[in-house]
Amino acid sequence: MINIILFGKPGAGKGTQAEFLKIAYNLVHISTGDLFRNNIKNKSQLGLLAKSYMDKGDLVPDQITIDMLKNEVNKNHEIKGFIFDGFPRTISQAEALDSFLESINMKITVTIFLEAEDSILEDRLIKRGQLSGRTDDQDLDKICNRFKEYNIKTFPLKKYYNSIGKLHIINGIGTIDEIRDRLSNLMNQIQ
Ligand code: AMP
Repeated sequence: MINIILFGKPGAGKGTQAEFLKIAYNLVHISTGDLFRNNIKNKSQLGLLAKSYMDKGDLVPDQITIDMLKNEVNKNHEIKGFIFDGFPRTISQAEALDSFLESINMKITVTIFLEAEDSILEDRLIKRGQLSGRTDDQDLDKICNRFKEYNIKTFPLKKYYNSIGKLHIINGIGTIDEIRDRLSNLMNQIQ
């Protein structure tokens, strides 16, 4: 089994590259952001709750997110592995993921951090927001808050995964194909 965590700031290209990894390695792609957005679209109770945080660019509370993630993993059987996109985003989510995976005899194979500067990410998000209509991508205040949330809550994950020898940093600046090739090279080294 291959289980990949993709993390990086909003706009780093996690979703785009996850699609490539999903096809290349026949994995199930779980994006917590997409799961929340689907819940919002379906007007579920979880969606309503998540919306109140997402609209401000805040993270949704850990326990809600962890429960949703576990539920999604448990829906999939007999698969080659997962790409976790946008999860974990806090140390407490990372610890919960580790113990959950251990309880079902699974573990993380690799954690890939997509790195790019804020100014580049800001441009990408604004452009993405114009195409997709995502409100959290169209407002600079919300984008800044998401970066702030990332710096405070998600950045410590780099140290966490580095300390257990699972962190790989990929330069997230360049064309989609260039970044995909960097990911492919990394995956070839790991396998
Ligand atoms: P994303 O699509 O990954 O950029 O996520 C969009 C929004 O969904 C984030 O700004 C958060 O409000 C929420 N979200 C997604 N994943 C998580 C997570 N792992 N923990 C908490 N909130 C999350």
